[in-house]
Order: sequence, then structure tokens, then C-alpha cells
Amino acid sequence: MKHSEMVDLMIIGGGMVGLTLAAALRDTGLHIVLIERAEPSVHQSLGIDCRVSAIVRGNVEMLEAIGAWQHLQQPSPIAAMRVWDDQHDGGIRFDALEIERDCLGQMVENSRLIAALRTLLLRSDTVELCCPATVTSVAWRREAVAVVLGDGRRLHAPLVVGADGAHSWLRAQAGIDLWSHDFEQQGIVATIKPQRHHQQVAYQRFLPTGPLALLPMADGLCSMVWSAHAPRATALMALDDDGFLQDLNLAFGPQLGQLEECGRRAAFPLTTRLAKHLVRPRLALIGDAAHTIHPLAGLGVNLGLRDAMVLAREIADAHRFGEDYGTMEVLRQYRNQRLPDVLAVMASMEGMHHLFTSTLPGVAALRGLGMRLVGNSGAIKQMLMRNSTGLTLPVPRVV
Ligand SMILES: Cc1cc2nc3c(=O)[nH]c(=O)nc-3n(C[C@H](O)[C@H](O)[C@H](O)COP(=O)(O)OP(=O)(O)OC[C@H]3O[C@@H](n4cnc5c(N)ncnc54)[C@H](O)[C@@H]3O)c2cc1C
Repeated sequence: MKHSEMVDLMIIGGGMVGLTLAAALRDTGLHIVLIERAEPSVHQSLGIDCRVSAIVRGNVEMLEAIGAWQHLQQPSPIAAMRVWDDQHDGGIRFDALEIERDCLGQMVENSRLIAALRTLLLRSDTVELCCPATVTSVAWRREAVAVVLGDGRRLHAPLVVGADGAHSWLRAQAGIDLWSHDFEQQGIVATIKPQRHHQQVAYQRFLPTGPLALLPMADGLCSMVWSAHAPRATALMALDDDGFLQDLNLAFGPQLGQLEECGRRAAFPLTTRLAKHLVRPRLALIGDAAHTIHPLAGLGVNLGLRDAMVLAREIADAHRFGEDYGTMEVLRQYRNQRLPDVLAVMASMEGMHHLFTSTLPGVAALRGLGMRLVGNSGAIKQMLMRNSTGLTLPVPRVV
């Protein structure tokens, strides 16, 4: 039998969140092993990865602070955002200048952010990227957690972190259940070429069947996220490109002229999930392994990036003082800082989803009144913008 190597930290899952945790800790001297089962892949649509994320301003600053943003190719700033519903013409415009910033956030292709983070880690002598690699077993003991990889390599460490996505294998191995709510909706994503340039404005239209967003990408292209009830989404996915564009133009309206071209489409089921425990002795869950939310405000990975940064700071601080960062004393600090933020965002996504899809009498009028109130009140608008762009949260420093 092979002997077991002692390392300082094991991270399972090398998506945007797991890689951010490793990147944030790479200068602490900790020997980190990150295990990712898949080679990086790109699902292109009109020359762009159709999986994109809006990274809010606060998290852009955080990724700059750890040196990852500088390696990112072709981010596309969101200078303003227009939100309206299908019953009121006016809607609200959120402008970055109102909060004295040059942008509210940046659109990035997920594969490019992953590539930037991997570039950073490949230069590090303390982070070992095992990819493609699998974990075949995990066992939690009092002093350490032990894993066996698919090639028979045995490792143990004071802590293992689950960053292995919504269907987390590690979470299941730990026997942690989920609270979940299925929206019975699917999010359809694709790259769209509009007739007019988007001028770095993000558009979100709330339809009774779910929100439709067109987000500004490089070269005047837009990334579309169209959330629709499952039967409608299935019908939309079955259409050919011409039929789909016809429905899309009708649903979105004339804001960007004719929507002329549509790349490859992909559909994702939309479910809110929250792990019943974010931490256990010698285990922490981060990113989609810990929680998933409706993409209507594009905040899913943003929550995960903050998980990664807060956990990194707790691990780095404990390590600096010679403490065991796999214990509940340390891991509780991470959970206590993250849970209120996660729950608040989750509740507001559920609330917005019901407010904008409800057909109950009076709700449309209430919605219109709310939009006018927010639109006309500079102070409320600024507060909403500062909160949703993560600018009210401090940037956690690690080293
Ligand atoms: C339609 C749609 C649109 C979205 N738009 C936005 C947006 O605009 N902004 C935003 O913030 N969020 C958005 N999100 C959410 C965002 O995509 C996710 O929150 C984000 O991808 C989560 O990152 P993660 O690293 O936690 O998990 P993942 O991206 O799922 O990565 C998990 C990684 O773990 C690996 N893995 C899994 N199991 C194992 C295993 N057993 N062993 C080893 N490795 C394993 C996987 O290969 C993968 O690389 C959207 C989601 C959807 C569905």
C-alpha cells in the first residue's frame, strides 16, 4: 500500500471558486493540492464561451488584489443597467457614475477567468494542480482528513474544501443534506448579435414567464440569459435559430434594434439550494457546493468568490498564529461571516422572482410604483447599487 503524504490543504473542484481560494492562499507558504476532474472546456457560441458571468465591482477589486484580474483577457465593462417589465415602459436605469465608479461590474467568459486563475497557479511552487484527477474515497478522522485519488495516491491534510459545484460529491460523502427550491424554470444562454451596439449597457426585461437579460460583451455582442418556465424553455430550445430569434425579438423589444444572429444555445435548470451545514470538522463548502441561486441578478459566482476570499483569510490568519484551521473554532468564523450574506441574497432573489412573475391583481401596479420610487430616489438607488455591486463589503486581505 502507498504511504499517505501530508499536505496543508486539499481543494476538490477547480471551477472559478476553487481556483480563487487556491490563488488567494498561494503566497502563504501552505502546500495546497487542488483536484479537478475535467480538463478546462469552452462551449462557444458566436466565438464566445456561452457560459459567462457578471462579476460585480467589489469582486473585480478582490480579483485584482490577488493578482488574477491582470491575466484576464477581454473583460467587458457594464457601465449602466436598464431594468423594465413588460407592463411599464419607463423602468429604471442604474448608472455607474451615480456611485462614482467607471463600471458596475465586468462581464467575463467563465473559461477566460478559469484560464487567468490557472495561469497564476501554474507559476506557484506551493499549489499543485491535479487535473484531470478524481477522488475515490474520503475519510474524516480526529486529527486530519484523508483522501485517495483515482491513481492510488494517498493524501491527508488538516482540512478539505468542497468547491465541486452544485452536485458536490464531497458534500454527499459528508452526508450533508440540502434545502432546495426548484423554480421549475430553465435558464437559456446564448450569444446574440444585435443591430445596434450595446454601449456597455446591460438590459434586463422582466416577463411574466421569467427575466430576460442581454449583457454587454466584446465586439458589440451580447450574452443572453433567458429564464423561462420549463415547458416554454423546452419549446424555445426546440426552435431553429430563425424561429428562436423571432420569439426573442418579440420578448425583448426594440431597445437594440433587430437581434440579428444567435449562437449555440444551452439550457440549465434553475434551483435554489443551500447546504444544511457549510462546515463540519475538517470540511468547508464554498461556491455552488454550498449554495445556488436564481441567476436573475447574476450573483451566483459572486457569492462563491466571497466565500473563497473569506475562507482564505480565516485559514491564513489561523496558520499565521499556528492554530489548527480544520477545527470548528476557525471554520465557524467563516460560516458566521458568510451565512447572513448568502441568506440575504437568496431571499431577495426569491422575492424578486415572485414579485416579477406574479399575476395576482394589484401586484403589477405595486411593481410599477416600486420601480418609480426607486427610479426617482437618488439615495435608495445608490444604496441598492452599492449593495448589489458588493461595494459595501470590505475586500478581505489574505497576505
Ligand atoms: C444560466 C446561468 C447563468 C448564470 N449567470 C451568472 C452570472 O451572470 N453571474 C454570476 O455570478 N453567476 C452566474 N451563474 C452562476 C455561476 O455560473 C455559478 O455560481 C458558478 O459557476 C459556480 O462556480 P463554482 O466554482 O462554485 O462551481 P462550478 O462552476 O460548478 O465548478 C465546480 C468544479 O468542480 C469540478 N468537480 C465536480 N465534481 C468533482 C469531483 N468529484 N472531483 C473533482 N472535481 C470535481 C467540476 O468539473 C468543476 O470544474 C449562472 C448560472 C446559470 C445556470
